[in-house]
Amino acid sequence: MVKVVKFGGSSLANAEQFKKVASIIKAEESRRYVVPSAPGKRFPDDTKVTDMLYKCYDLAAKGKDFTDSFDAIKQRYYEIINELSLSLSLEKEFEIIKACFIGKAGRDYAASRGEYLNGIILANFLGYEFIDAADVIFFTESGSFDPVKTGEILKARLENVERAVIPGFYGSMPNDTIKTFSRGGSDITGSIVASAVNADLYENWTDVSGFLIADPRIIDNPEPITVITYKELRELSYMGAGVLHEDAIFPVRKAGIPINIKNTNAPDDPGTMIVESTSQKPRFTITGIAGKTGFSVINIEKDMMNSEIGFGRKVLEVLEKNGICFEHMPSGIDTMSIIVHQAEFEKKEQEILAGIHRNVNPDVIDIETDLALIAVVGRGMKSTRGTAGRIFSALAHAHINVKMIDQGSSELNIIIGVDESDFAAATKCIYDIFVTFQL
Ligand code: ASP
Repeated sequence: MVKVVKFGGSSLANAEQFKKVASIIKAEESRRYVVPSAPGKRFPDDTKVTDMLYKCYDLAAKGKDFTDSFDAIKQRYYEIINELSLSLSLEKEFEIIKACFIGKAGRDYAASRGEYLNGIILANFLGYEFIDAADVIFFTESGSFDPVKTGEILKARLENVERAVIPGFYGSMPNDTIKTFSRGGSDITGSIVASAVNADLYENWTDVSGFLIADPRIIDNPEPITVITYKELRELSYMGAGVLHEDAIFPVRKAGIPINIKNTNAPDDPGTMIVESTSQKPRFTITGIAGKTGFSVINIEKDMMNSEIGFGRKVLEVLEKNGICFEHMPSGIDTMSIIVHQAEFEKKEQEILAGIHRNVNPDVIDIETDLALIAVVGRGMKSTRGTAGRIFSALAHAHINVKMIDQGSSELNIIIGVDESDFAAATKCIYDIFVTFQL
């Protein structure tokens, strides 16, 4: 049995957290490959080391004095080293990093040092081999992850290594410069390593006991999700459910490796298992509810629209030319609505309206703003009659007007558009009907 374990920033924020991490790793022989993040927040108002590094580098890049900012970063690491009583000096590393900051090695290089240094400390503390991610994780010329080169080199490198620490978040470009994934990207590194060693399980350790059915900022103490499929998670994470970087799903999913989200501060909690498919019946008809505010709708009307060949393409071409992606596109016989992210759309609004006029000459175009989308997701909905009925009668009883409905043919999700002011109330009444009243 081989497990790849990834620990997030809050799990490695200070020496006390390092000790918890080490005891989790040592508790199971199979936890052989470890992927750490940079030290995160120790308390709510604290600053993550990654953010300190970005700030410090920005000063250096502007030619300003960055001594204090750099010392504060050093202090974070030295505090960990001293409190763990390690005989490890990072002085040489810090000298190199300082010189590279002065030499303007780039923001990605700067940010990556957070994971790099934390990896050195963790490897020393555990007595594991340290493998620099720059030697085993690769990006292509265009800056996207290179799965082929990485797969070959990483697999070969780990073949005869019993136990290792590989820092998350970064890798190298063909010209040997450092590049990072997007924020939270250590999750992706963990997934890549799990796939390379053909792990039995990818454990992703964080500061919550897995996914919850709904956002705890809206619902008091929502029930946890014990098992979720990759597909369900995609539908939920796409709507902003956080916890795991959405790109972290792909490498393990391809290799058929499940992910277990676990809590470093409550290691006995089962957490959430993310699996390809399962025969386990879900506890409730729905697996989760996720939502997001900040959408706009472009409503287009034109008589005989449905018989005009190429109408949809001509409209979407305008969005494409303006670099805007659309979220949904419900349509009627003479109407078509396109749902877009308000913040992106606002910047290009007039160009887009002019473009649509030019391309399809509509009778009416109007714009609605401040829409919230709520995704109700669950494999249990597939063959259950009345799911949509229950949702909409609950919303009607709560006096919430539904502005848009979209159910995918997979029957895995129902997406509902409501006014932003109804967002929390709508989420709550859907949660209550499927979860609270079923407990
Ligand atoms: N340290 C990086 C960040 O704060 C990457 C990570 O933690 O996954 O985004």
